[in-house]
Amino acid sequence: MQNIHVDFWGVRGSVPSPGPKTNKYGGNTSCVSVTVGNKILILDAGTGIRNLGTSIITKPDIEIFVIITHSHWDHIQGFPFFTPIYQPNRPVYMFPTLHKKNVVLSSLIDQMDGAHFPVTPDQVPANFTFISENPLEFLADNGFNITLVPMNHPGGAYGYKIIAEDKTICYFTDNEIDPPYPKSIEFDDLVKECKGADILIHDAQYIEKDMPLKHGWGHSLINQVTDLGDKAQVKNLVYFHHDPERSDDDIDAEFENARYEFRKRESTVKPFFASEGMRISL
Ligand SMILES: [Zn+2]
Ligand SMILES: [Zn+2]
Repeated sequence: MQNIHVDFWGVRGSVPSPGPKTNKYGGNTSCVSVTVGNKILILDAGTGIRNLGTSIITKPDIEIFVIITHSHWDHIQGFPFFTPIYQPNRPVYMFPTLHKKNVVLSSLIDQMDGAHFPVTPDQVPANFTFISENPLEFLADNGFNITLVPMNHPGGAYGYKIIAEDKTICYFTDNEIDPPYPKSIEFDDLVKECKGADILIHDAQYIEKDMPLKHGWGHSLINQVTDLGDKAQVKNLVYFHHDPERSDDDIDAEFENARYEFRKRESTVKPFFASEGMRISL
């Protein structure tokens, strides 16, 4: 069995939020990677992907697999700044039919249209390989067994349950656990999907005082994520996709509350609030 490293490169939702109040947890938007041996699976291409690119630029033997949950800006905007795509012959695998509609090509690639970004895809030297036939089989052959899990999110999104080696990592972001609109997934089914997972990474953008204004915007309350992690008895629970308005002090306070809550419930769940540079190794 090889070690698995889960790295957090961007942990914010909606829009980058740099500045003195967000230095500790970071201001870049969604990007998480799962590394096994020389293969790196990239989950979302928010602005966090820029630093990921820098970290592997001198490691040309690393094969890159990019999947996204949906094409909102905070999940695609960093891709043109992902420097490995400017390295000749760097293998970069993408999966345009993973969601049945062409989310990957129409967002990651098409934003490089000369108007929104100066470099166009035909000028990119990396070896883009689009796997359209049986993408899940291709990913499984490369060591990532993936199940798509529909999320409750305006416009739709998919979460990923990833089994690599014998570990389970659930990346469920941009999910509103209790939306006012028809659900794509019920709470009990979410629990089933992540039951006993080694890591659950879940959208935790809001707190009670954001409501009722932001009910229906596609994100979950921190205390709903606590309930999900507890019910599913995951080993490590990562609160993710922090609101751009949430300061480091605010997040510290929420983290303390979550730790208190799990102690009170005598739960074995280990909570984390995602921060840039954080790594969980399994
Ligand atoms: Zn988002
Ligand atoms: Zn979204």
